[in-house]
Amino acid sequence: MKQIISVRDLEELLRNGQDLSSLPGDALLTPSARDFLREHESAASQKSGSRSPEESSARPVTVTSKSSKSELEGFFNSAAIHDLKLQLCDVGRRLWQRAYVDGNGGNIAIRVGEDIALCTPTLVSKGFMKPEDMCLVDLEGNQLAGIKKRTSEILMHLQIMKRQPRAVATVHCHPPYATGFAVAGVQPPTCMIPEYEVFSSVAIAPYRTPGTPEMGKLVSDLVDKHNTILMANHGVVSWSHNNVEDAYFKMEILEAYCRTVLVASQLGKPVNTMTPEQLQDLLKIKQSLGIPDPRHGLKECELCDNDGWRPGVTCAVPGRNSEPVRDSAPAVDPQAEALVQTITDQIMNRE
Ligand SMILES: [Zn+2]
Repeated sequence: MKQIISVRDLEELLRNGQDLSSLPGDALLTPSARDFLREHESAASQKSGSRSPEESSARPVTVTSKSSKSELEGFFNSAAIHDLKLQLCDVGRRLWQRAYVDGNGGNIAIRVGEDIALCTPTLVSKGFMKPEDMCLVDLEGNQLAGIKKRTSEILMHLQIMKRQPRAVATVHCHPPYATGFAVAGVQPPTCMIPEYEVFSSVAIAPYRTPGTPEMGKLVSDLVDKHNTILMANHGVVSWSHNNVEDAYFKMEILEAYCRTVLVASQLGKPVNTMTPEQLQDLLKIKQSLGIPDPRHGLKECELCDNDGWRPGVTCAVPGRNSEPVRDSAPAVDPQAEALVQTITDQIMNRE
């Protein structure tokens, strides 16, 4: 999948001795990458005089919500945006195939400029979208281009992008296992699977009516330190600093994790968790990948002494409440068992 160009990509090109002016003309840069490129260009022009017209014309397309209608239309119909529209269709199809969306549920957005985003339409199954269904909006949710009406839940995506400048893409859906945790108001316990610890940073936002600014605010209040938000009694929304596929990966990781935790909690044995040292190793990897986590910088002993902000999780610390998952498994009711036995006996005796 083609990626939006980030600062990291530009730095990588420079490290490899490549010329940034040779970026493809239809490339899309994140806002911070654009700033980086601008600074790099002005530094380069101070060194060697101004750029030739040929070089200038090779610069990536940049439009804002204030651009003219025809500029916006041209941008919306450009090859680079078409590629992103295809990515939205692809991620939508994967969400539907994995049963993470139902009916017309779920929505996806990609930031494509300083104050504009591409997003999915309302009232269309995410499994069957076409590139021409997509919509261009400003960060207030006003539609700038596209035939179909933009998703009714776009405000939440845009509020995430406004609060978290690194967010280049957002995905919202209703995966059943993760949504089950969101309905129960249970934060998935930690320290069990490395993939989840490294790539996910999960918090729960309280319920509000979908699509309202209040819902968006409660979610966006959490995106500074979390990349995946369980929305109580609703679903999940994630953001990525890389691309839309990466935002989608957050869903796969969370859903697989919730499913695994649920299975492990039903096996009748205490769940084994990592030690604080093992978790610290994973957090180091997480930090190096630029993925936020409220536990970055905590001492090892604090990683596990976290009952206050993540109730029930103890991270292999002996003593108090060391079997959180087993504790949450349903206890066998002897009266109910006796009742089932009596009914079974009566049915058998009828034969
Ligand atoms: Zn929803």
